[in-house]
Amino acid sequence: MAGRYNAFGPWLRKRFGTIVYKVNVDAGFTCPNRDGTLGVTGCIYCNNSSFRPSECKSEIPLSKQIRDGITYLSGRYKASKFLVYFQPYTNTYASVNELADAYGQALAEPGVIGLAIGTRPDCVDPEKIELLQSLAEKHFVLVEYGLQSMYDKSLDYILRGHDYQTFLDAVEMTTGKGIHIGAHIIAGLPTETLDETLAMADELSNLPIGFLKIHQLQIVKNTPLATAYLSDPFPTFAYEEYLDFLVNFVERLSPEIVLQRFFATSPDAILIAPIWGKTRQEIIIDIEKRFAERKAVQGSKCACYRH
Ligand code: SF4
Repeated sequence: MAGRYNAFGPWLRKRFGTIVYKVNVDAGFTCPNRDGTLGVTGCIYCNNSSFRPSECKSEIPLSKQIRDGITYLSGRYKASKFLVYFQPYTNTYASVNELADAYGQALAEPGVIGLAIGTRPDCVDPEKIELLQSLAEKHFVLVEYGLQSMYDKSLDYILRGHDYQTFLDAVEMTTGKGIHIGAHIIAGLPTETLDETLAMADELSNLPIGFLKIHQLQIVKNTPLATAYLSDPFPTFAYEEYLDFLVNFVERLSPEIVLQRFFATSPDAILIAPIWGKTRQEIIIDIEKRFAERKAVQGSKCACYRH
C-alpha cells in the first residue's frame, strides 16, 4: 500500500507493471430480481441506467463492445492492458455454456488480461465456480458479489432477495480456487445506524475478501426507493459527513483489502438525494485531503485477524 489506502488502480499497476484499463460491457444478462424469478421490480434502489455507461448496450455484440472499448482506450491513453468488466445486472445469471462463451470472447481479445464479473451471491453454483476457476488458472478473474449489507433487516428492506448467509456461502464456495473475491456494499441505508454500517468493516476484514466497493446510498428516479423517500424522506449522507464516515470505515478495514470504489455518482438527471454538487474529481481530491488531514491509514484501527 503506497498511499493511505490500498486503491485498485495502483494495485493493478503493481501487479501487471502498467496501467490496466477497464472496458465495461453489457453481455445482455438479466437478474432474478427483475425477471420474475425473485421479483420484477428489482432491489428498491436499482435503476440500471444509474450505473450503466451509455456506450455499452447489450444489443451491440459483445466482441464489438470490447473492441470498441479497447480501440478508444488505446487511442486516448495508449493503453495496452485491459480488464473486461461485466457490469450491469447479474453476470453469472445464465447457463455455464453461455457464460463460458461470453467470458471466452472477452479473454480472446488481444490485451485483455482478465475479467471483473459483477453478480449476486445467489447466482453462483459449483459448476459456475469451476468455470471461473479454470479461467483463473491463466487470467486475472475477479468476482464481485453484491452484498449491500450484512444485516438481514437491511437486505429485507431493499428487497434484495437473499440473506447474508447466502453471501457467506458464495464466498466459501469461491475461496481457494484462484478466483479473486470482491464485495460491494452500500453505506447509509435507513435501516442501519452509522455504528452498524461501520461494523461491516470489521466483519468483512475477517472474511477472505480481497476487494471492496463501498458507496453512499443514492436515491435515484424511477425506483421504489424514490417513491418511498419522496413520501417519507429520511436522512442521507451529507458530503462532509460521508468523507468522515469513509475515513472511519477504511481505518477499520484490513489493509489487505483493495478498495475499488469509494462513492457513487449517478447522473444529475436521475439523482434525487443526496445532492452534493461535486464532480468525481473533486470528490476524489476531498477524500484524499480528508485522509491526509486526519493522518488516517487503512487498517490502523482494524480488529481483524489476518495481519
Ligand atoms: S441491483 Fe442488481 S440484483 Fe438488484 S435488481 Fe438491480 S441488477 Fe438486480
